Amino acid sequence: MYQTVALTLPAKKTIALIAHDNKKADMLAWVKANRDRLAGHTLCGTGTTARIIADETGLPVRAYNSGPLGGDQQIGARIAEGQIDCVIFFWDPLTAQPHDPDVKALLRIALVYDIPIANNPATADFLIRSPLMEAAYTRPVQNFQATAEARAAAYAAGDQL
Ligand code: PGA
Repeated sequence: MYQTVALTLPAKKTIALIAHDNKKADMLAWVKANRDRLAGHTLCGTGTTARIIADETGLPVRAYNSGPLGGDQQIGARIAEGQIDCVIFFWDPLTAQPHDPDVKALLRIALVYDIPIANNPATADFLIRSPLMEAAYTRPVQNFQATAEARAAAYAAGDQL
């Protein structure tokens, strides 16, 4: 069993929006349908998705790199840094992606940090209507500092890592 630390998602959340090419129309429709709910949060996304949403809705969306050019990895890094609280990621289950390892890495890191992540419009509908979207939410997450210190101490003691 590992040690945990309590981490809090704030009431006003930073939400990452990502859609593969065949899912961009679904994403735009979903954002338009939930524009008022999203307007109270801070939005970001992978390059093309962010630009389309910003152009079509007028909502401010911080754009990271395009997904195949590192955008998924940038968003994963922000999750690890505690700067992204929620992910709406409509990935395409029927088309191979050149950046499939990055996609998997993002899905994985969202689970590691136990942040809410929706991968289809139905789940996104449930998520955006949750009262927890408008409230601070604290959950226990593995204490990575303690884990890193224990690993470093074991290494210093000559143990196998
Ligand atoms: P895009 O990236 O928004 O730049 O198209 C999404 C993705 O393919 O992960």
